[in-house]
Amino acid sequence: MSVATFPCLSCGAELEFKPGTNSLTCPYCHGLNEIPELPEGVEEQDFQGMLGRLDKDAEHVDRLDVPCGSCGAVVELPENVTSAACPFCGSNVVATGASHRIIKPQGVLPFGIARDKAQSMFREWIGGLWFAPSDLKQLAAMTGVELSGGRAMSGAGSSMQGSVLSGVYLPYWTFDAKTTTPYTGQRGDAYYETQSYTAMVNGRPQPRTRQVRKIRWSWASGTVFNVFDDVLVPATGSLPQKTLTSLGSWDTKDVVAYNDAFLSGFRAESYTVTLAEGFSLAQRRMERMIEDTIRRDIGGDEQRIHSMSPHYQEITFKHVLVPVWISSYRYRGKIFRFIVNARSGRIAAERPYSGWKITLAVVLALIAIGVVVLVVASQR
Ligand SMILES: [Zn+2]
Ligand SMILES: [Zn+2]
Repeated sequence: MSVATFPCLSCGAELEFKPGTNSLTCPYCHGLNEIPELPEGVEEQDFQGMLGRLDKDAEHVDRLDVPCGSCGAVVELPENVTSAACPFCGSNVVATGASHRIIKPQGVLPFGIARDKAQSMFREWIGGLWFAPSDLKQLAAMTGVELSGGRAMSGAGSSMQGSVLSGVYLPYWTFDAKTTTPYTGQRGDAYYETQSYTAMVNGRPQPRTRQVRKIRWSWASGTVFNVFDDVLVPATGSLPQKTLTSLGSWDTKDVVAYNDAFLSGFRAESYTVTLAEGFSLAQRRMERMIEDTIRRDIGGDEQRIHSMSPHYQEITFKHVLVPVWISSYRYRGKIFRFIVNARSGRIAAERPYSGWKITLAVVLALIAIGVVVLVVASQR
């Protein structure tokens, strides 16, 4: 983070910083601004090289991956199965026989919610959808039928196509790191000034006073230390961030060591966000936390951060899998999904609306408002 401008200590005007200068006279109030020296000795860290080494040292496995032609998700097929419905969009995918090397998962959060529980949640959810097209309720009835894997479904005369509820592991990266961060900034301390003014009372000027909050700014600099444990970032390319956010948090403290046995009966998505991309996402999250630490370190009533240079040490990562139950269906060319966090039971769902049911509800609401208006009018 480099600074181009900073506020004048005396009047708050934005001053332009010229590299190499260490004091500046404000052109507005002529106040002298000392510019603190930026922390030195911060070398650029070679994250690409470091992540390349971490990637190389990690245990890898060969995976027979099956990319979905419709949505791009890369999902393993169950053993001895050559075609199945994509759990993320319901399209049929077929194994091509190509395999690729991926970093082996080190940890897994086992399924905590069983299939029949997820199925009843799905039925309950659909049952509560008053505005949903009737076809959707038909889909719900079908998910009660036990089908292995996830077969594509298209009922005769139905405008809906979808997959039954499948258990899928989503890929995540977690990072641990320690940071040392020199910073420069400003500390603002509030004070109150008594201001005199004239108020008009009954057409006559009256002297009055009022308290006005002001901020006294002073330079601040220092170094903060942070320890990060299990900074979790999604490595899935199939679900939008909004959906992942709706699924809520994951209990990373309960991650257990990975074992192939966890995959039996379930499917695993391969990561499409690389280790390096995952680390920059994690860095962005860590830097927000470092900023909070700096603000506490500066103290006062308000803070400004001009520069911070985090240095990362002891970076380690884990590739972990988290469990969801998912059902995807197509309705009039659009993909809708019902997803359950199979640890906490939180639901993230996208749903179609039935046009005529909404119209009917709006008409009923308007009639109700009309009746109220008539009743009120007749009481006058
Ligand atoms: Zn000034
Ligand atoms: Zn797909």
